[in-house]
Amino acid sequence: MRKFLSVVLTGVLALSMLAGCSQKDVEKAAEQLPSQAAEAAKEIASQAAEAGEAIASAAGDVIKDVESAENSAFNKDTLVVGTNAEFPPFEYVGADGNPDGFDIALMKAMGEYLGKKIEVQNMQFDSLIASIGNKIDIAIAGMTVTEERKQSVDFSDSYYDAVQSVIVPKDSAIKTADDLKNLTIGVQLGTTGDFMVADIEGATASQYNKGVDAVNDLLNGRVDCVIIDKNPAQVFVSLHHDELVAIEGTELGFEAEHYAIAMPKGDAYLVEMINGALAALKADGTYDELVKKYIEAQ
Ligand code: GLN
Repeated sequence: MRKFLSVVLTGVLALSMLAGCSQKDVEKAAEQLPSQAAEAAKEIASQAAEAGEAIASAAGDVIKDVESAENSAFNKDTLVVGTNAEFPPFEYVGADGNPDGFDIALMKAMGEYLGKKIEVQNMQFDSLIASIGNKIDIAIAGMTVTEERKQSVDFSDSYYDAVQSVIVPKDSAIKTADDLKNLTIGVQLGTTGDFMVADIEGATASQYNKGVDAVNDLLNGRVDCVIIDKNPAQVFVSLHHDELVAIEGTELGFEAEHYAIAMPKGDAYLVEMINGALAALKADGTYDELVKKYIEAQ
């Protein structure tokens, strides 16, 4: 700081001399110098501090990125992907006994794009979130992004928009959201449909591990209706179209839902890679092909 002041002082004196100032002027200028120099020094110091902070934070970000990349599940050759193959057309057990469906095909295409092997593990929907980061690396299961789930996992960009539907017997009097009050409603355990029933006045949720079991109990008269996502509702109703109909939630004022891939919390590198693959498959038409093959043809 002292060196800085003496440089400024010498500079100002030299300039004043050059400009032909009198000795008095120079002395006067020199008197003001300490305060001006102090101001300038303060300003420079604060700018330097700001720049230093910006550099430190940028460096911190780089370190975080490197650490995240180093510790990422993405470094494995095989990504273990959890699903619940009870949710057609997104996931179901195929003719060969292995999980198949839109989500599985999308995940396999992403694996190919990213140069990773994909191993699919079929488990209860209810266990998926808790298994991420230990039994499985990723979950794809027509899973809706919710604030509560975001406390435990990170989500990819959304890859499909959905809404809950209400499956009712063909002759049912259920026509509006109000008609759901005080009913016994079949749901799949731990799903957004299940959470929704908790908010319906007087309604009781009958929870099943498989949506199809809820539908069977509707056919048996053990529940009044079933609340489940729109696409599986369409599939289940198509198997019993003489007896059941699905009312789409958009007609009942239900909120839109967004499906995304769930990953361990804090694995930013994995999220970045998965989002990159998703964007690439959307751009090259693979995503649309899979929608046609698995969802539109359902
Ligand atoms: N979308 C619903 C949820 O995330 C249901 C998903 C499912 O049953 N596979 O809760």
